Amino acid sequence: MNMMNVSDTEVAWSFLQKKGYQRTTDLGQADVILLVTCSVREKAEKTIWNRLQQLVTLKKKRPTSLPPLKIGILGCMAERLKTDLLEREKLLDVLAGPDAYRDLPRLLSLAEGGQQAVNVLLSLEETYADVIPVHVHSQAKTAFVSIMRGCDNMCSYCIVPFTRGRERSRPVASILQEVRMLSDQVEVTLLGQNVNSYRDTSEVQFCTAEPTQLSKGFHTLYRNKQGGLRFATLLEAVSNVNPEMRIRFTSPHPKDFPDEVLQLIHEKHNICKQIHLPAQSGSNRVLQAMRRGYTREAYLELVDHVRTIIPGVSLSSDFIAGFCDETEEDHWETISLMRAVKYNVGYLFAYSMRNKTHAFHRLEDNVPGEVKQRRLEELIGVFREEASKLNCSVVGSTQLILVEGVSKRSRDELSGRTDGNIKVIFPDVKIPIADSSQDTAAVKPGDYVVVKITSAGSQSLKGVPLRHATLH
Ligand code: SF4
Repeated sequence: MNMMNVSDTEVAWSFLQKKGYQRTTDLGQADVILLVTCSVREKAEKTIWNRLQQLVTLKKKRPTSLPPLKIGILGCMAERLKTDLLEREKLLDVLAGPDAYRDLPRLLSLAEGGQQAVNVLLSLEETYADVIPVHVHSQAKTAFVSIMRGCDNMCSYCIVPFTRGRERSRPVASILQEVRMLSDQVEVTLLGQNVNSYRDTSEVQFCTAEPTQLSKGFHTLYRNKQGGLRFATLLEAVSNVNPEMRIRFTSPHPKDFPDEVLQLIHEKHNICKQIHLPAQSGSNRVLQAMRRGYTREAYLELVDHVRTIIPGVSLSSDFIAGFCDETEEDHWETISLMRAVKYNVGYLFAYSMRNKTHAFHRLEDNVPGEVKQRRLEELIGVFREEASKLNCSVVGSTQLILVEGVSKRSRDELSGRTDGNIKVIFPDVKIPIADSSQDTAAVKPGDYVVVKITSAGSQSLKGVPLRHATLH
């Protein structure tokens, strides 16, 4: 499940809990099963279709002594396919788009009366500001907090503006209230489609007249937005809630990184020195076709600027292999950008055309599947090679790790993440409770520990735990 789906699940669950619904993880016990969906990639939708078939089989086999099982689809796929979904799958009971979770109890009661119930209206205002999501706390004590919804950027390949609607920011006061309630958590990730273009215009007294300050060499398709409380103010306020709480944010757009935000990340000890800078391509021709609003040169300049203000910052990116009309030369431009920047973390995908998008109407998905796949593999190879070099450069250093839990590879090892979001595996042993202390304690999820890094691969680091620690 992606982060946005986790956040939507928590909001939807808040409305259902208030109406007396109880949660179960046992499918056999459930009277209602809701699938929270994502449409960004074709593969995610295929997974949901398969899941739906399994649930329909479960519904058909349900003993008649029990109330009929109700099945619902929530989120982007409901929005994208709307009533086509109901026509394709007659046994589906509820369809709720990303702005319709408030309406879920009514939709479910209609479904109980035997109707198919649908609400896929997108809203210009809905931010669920008055809702305190029901957080499904992870073992590692990390939580997601949604700060804005939708996106106005209209990148030509992207379905998000059509499934999640226009950009809206949740008021600062509501976000801070939620973060304060999460004070038992040790890491909070601020979440949105375009987090750094955050703009709270709800509190008139806070509004400034300053227009959006875009990073140099960046432009948007929409008109410059004015006023409102900006992302830097929100980020600072969130980081002030609890100095022991680590703060991350995702996903940003490269256009909205004023120095104010970069300085803040550099100065505040609890804002992770990790920035996602989704490049998508290294070719100007492709970037223009994607309507990303920047050139390769502007992007590389931004990377230099970010690294100057935040030395040692960890960078991650998204790349798409085989976008419409992408040539071998374009592909090599992407490879050379990857080599020039060197990312710690990469999310790489072969292009899949989504209908409704600008690319669907205006461009041709003309790179053959096997070529996309080969280019994707080449990108993955280069990413791993460069990430390995970066990871090797920290061997011998000590890193502050937030412990997430038992390693998937071995029950005798734990895994956690550095400030830069790199996974670290280390032995599960008792360690001193503080620097130069003789007392030792076991390490558990949610603890901060200092680990000496002893070896590195492209995806993770290995190390030896030295002592328990605090964040500041
Ligand atoms: S910035 Fe572009 S890719 Fe990201 S959600 Fe908005 S339209 Fe999609």
